[in-house]
Amino acid sequence: MKRNAFVGLCFGIIAVTAYASEEDGIYTYRAGQFEIIMMVERSNPGNAGILVGADQTLLSRYIPASGFNHSTNTFLIKAPGRNIIVDTGFGAAIFDKIRQLGVEPEQIDTVLLTHMHGDHIGGLQRDGRPLFPNAKLYVSVRDSDHFTKTAVNQGAVAAIAAYGSNVVLFDPPALGSALREIIPGISPIAAYGHTPGHTVYLIQSGTERFLIIGDLLHVALVQFPRPDISATYDIDQSAAAATRRQFLLYAAQNRIPVGGMHMIYPAVGFVETDGAGFKFVPAR
Ligand SMILES: [Zn+2]
Repeated sequence: MKRNAFVGLCFGIIAVTAYASEEDGIYTYRAGQFEIIMMVERSNPGNAGILVGADQTLLSRYIPASGFNHSTNTFLIKAPGRNIIVDTGFGAAIFDKIRQLGVEPEQIDTVLLTHMHGDHIGGLQRDGRPLFPNAKLYVSVRDSDHFTKTAVNQGAVAAIAAYGSNVVLFDPPALGSALREIIPGISPIAAYGHTPGHTVYLIQSGTERFLIIGDLLHVALVQFPRPDISATYDIDQSAAAATRRQFLLYAAQNRIPVGGMHMIYPAVGFVETDGAGFKFVPAR
């Protein structure tokens, strides 16, 4: 709050909501009526060992000898009269970050999940109590089924139980099919592979768009130029690779900025085609 007041004094009210600080792990991108705020939950040394089929020669081509960083991020979306969270990380930093941005957990009306891995649902509940008590929780029915019935994850079971009648299960359309908004201006799109129900979110306001790509990539340095390389975390590695290429091409061809849950700060930027692969141009 103190920092918000300080920024407000310096740059005026508007600047408060366009806050960006690498030190604080917060980066704001405006798309029409939406403020899309990337929040770093955790940053630690990356591990290229999670990449499947990437030998040392390939890795040394893309990863500096000094190593690289891995980040876990969530997004806060501010719209007129609404506060939306996309994923909740491990549940460690998200609460301080949203408060720093002037939003209390009780003011979050919507939580959108890209999927139900532990680093995305960790902030949903404690001891069965919802930590965003006034929010509806949106998750694709395929991920909910997978993590509560097929490969049962107690965190997923507890999250679904905690939100009770506020859980909204949906079946997102494929890329290229007609969009179906789940809340005004925000449409889920099926991006299966990483998990059976992995979902990306297209945000639209007028002519402005933004795509939250969830866990489409885990090691951006390698997977932008080589989208065919999947990670051990991808449940269906070949589907994940096909989906990765499909969405990176979509973002590049349509000049839609993207934001990812495991990209390093600012974790927001543009995708460009580059030879047989892609390159990432950070927004700042
Ligand atoms: Zn993840």
